[in-house]
Amino acid sequence: MSRARDSFHDVAEEVIALEEEINEMHEKIRSLEIRKEELQQKCIHQFQGNAYYEKCLLCHKIEVLYY
Ligand SMILES: [Zn+2]
Repeated sequence: MSRARDSFHDVAEEVIALEEEINEMHEKIRSLEIRKEELQQKCIHQFQGNAYYEKCLLCHKIEVLYY
């Protein structure tokens, strides 16, 4: 096997490993977002904001204001 072939193989393996790690992190992020949404749904919001949007001081839920 030539040197070029070896490094091609290394790159392919590393990319696969990185993709797996990225996918795992995406899944972790998704589960954290679901958990956050659950908390935001239970929250008794205390909104504070400006003319454009309000943000809950407790759960950080953002409501965009239309006018
Ligand atoms: Zn809230």
